[in-house]
Amino acid sequence: MNTAHKENHSDTPPGNMGAVAGEAARRRTFAVISHPDAGKSTLTEALALHARAITSAGAVHGKSGRRGVASDWMEMEKARGISVTSAVLQFAYRGCVLNLLDTPGHADFSEDTYRVLAAVDCAVMLIDAAKGLEEQTRKLFDVCRHRGIPVITFVNKWDRPGHGALELLDEIEREFRLRPTPVTWPVGAPGYLRGLIDVRDPDRMLRYTRTPGGTHAALEKAIPAARAAEEEGADWGQANDELELLRADGAGLDRDSFLAGLSTPVFFGAAVSNIGVRLLLDAVVDLAPAPAARELEGGGTRPVDAPFSGLVFKVQANMDPAHRDRIAFLRVCSGVFERGATFTRAASGKPFATKYAHSVFGQDRSMVDTAYPGDVVGLVNATALRVGDTLYAGPAALFPPMPTFAPEHFAVARPADLSRSKQFRKGIAQLDEEGVVQVLVSDTRGEAAPILAAVGPMQFDVVQARMAGEFSSRVHLETLPYRLARATDPAGAEALNASQRITGEALTRVRDKALLALFPDKWQVGSFERAFPDARLGQLLAAH
Ligand code: GDP
Repeated sequence: MNTAHKENHSDTPPGNMGAVAGEAARRRTFAVISHPDAGKSTLTEALALHARAITSAGAVHGKSGRRGVASDWMEMEKARGISVTSAVLQFAYRGCVLNLLDTPGHADFSEDTYRVLAAVDCAVMLIDAAKGLEEQTRKLFDVCRHRGIPVITFVNKWDRPGHGALELLDEIEREFRLRPTPVTWPVGAPGYLRGLIDVRDPDRMLRYTRTPGGTHAALEKAIPAARAAEEEGADWGQANDELELLRADGAGLDRDSFLAGLSTPVFFGAAVSNIGVRLLLDAVVDLAPAPAARELEGGGTRPVDAPFSGLVFKVQANMDPAHRDRIAFLRVCSGVFERGATFTRAASGKPFATKYAHSVFGQDRSMVDTAYPGDVVGLVNATALRVGDTLYAGPAALFPPMPTFAPEHFAVARPADLSRSKQFRKGIAQLDEEGVVQVLVSDTRGEAAPILAAVGPMQFDVVQARMAGEFSSRVHLETLPYRLARATDPAGAEALNASQRITGEALTRVRDKALLALFPDKWQVGSFERAFPDARLGQLLAAH
């Protein structure tokens, strides 16, 4: 676990804490993980809309009849400091500040996602009720488990026919070895949603009136059990029978096992109609952990109220084509971030000035002056910063390096046009720094023909598109027949490269100078191990 979820800050009134601890206690930093099309964008909009709707009801901003959530975001931002970016959505809800970090949306697993998950304290796993657990959900869940990130589950699209609720819980338990603990329960089969039961208050049914156009949160009305039984008949009866079964099975909400990654609170709903979204939002506030002391490389932790420390979890160039810039995303881990302050970059020990700090990226940006643990700051043109970097003030802090995954696809890259070799080298170096792909070099091919290593083949498409678009350098890729990478040592690398009999090759990863031994299949790995029993072959972190 990278974050220690020891304290339940949310139960302690901020008045009893120092200012930083109080601000940290009201932060919730999370990401939504899902397979494409499960409804992540819809849910994100619904969450933001819901936060807005609640504030609107307080007559701060009583506009009605507005259309289109996305176009409302800028409006929201101006009205009450909610910032919308392609990377982080920040909004206020019930006295908390919620930071929702975007995870890359494409189907192909990439290391980017892993890095985003290094910056959150909790994940909402979004499942399409009709499709159940899908491939991308599984991979993302594995990353959460690996990092010890607690997971809240939201079963979406309950307004359409799909799997039964018990069946879905079974699937989660069986496949993820994660105990599902439903917090809401649907009345009515998928496609015939009559309402939801909040299992903490089971004597009522929550009924929703859909609002057209998605401009408002669905109206939610509590119906007493007797009336629900009368009006919903068999559906009410069945939902209660199922809940009885679950109770007998001990599936009650248990915050400790949720924080330990052993159980997942489950919610049902339909993001498109805002059904069940408020309850999910409440769960983020009530159940998700606030930022807590973070483990340091070499032991010990940095408490949230220690002097400033932050982790660079993502670096992205050219987010805004008009600006041609490079943004390093920093999660504040402890202390206060103040724009203009100078921190130390742990990797070099050199000072780093934060003149250009923004909360909003993409086309529209606003300066950040202060940020607290859990918040994300974009540092513009911070060319010195790399993914995994730690910045700190006061006593030195260094967070553990971000692990790289075992690549499974390899290709030699060459510039299509040799007269653009300089741009080619610059582009490859940039994409390596951003972690778009891993870049390896071999002694035989030299630096003019780097080997790109990817976890998913789509990373190569991204490289080609970005190299052509941003560096005017078209890239030829020659696929190599390897599928497995193992960590090795200089003796192992030498033995493999010298061997005529074994198909494989040892290369150096540019980023961390690690030696990787590449093989086409496990049989060649076996032959190598038998032929050179003294050579070291270590497992790399598997993405699959
Ligand atoms: P993403 O790829 O995960 O971001 O998914 P989107 O939010 O773009 O949603 C994919 C499709 O599912 C869109 O057509 C949405 O309108 C639809 N969708 C999202 N949530 C729901 C829901 O609760 N019910 C139904 N019926 N459709 C939904």
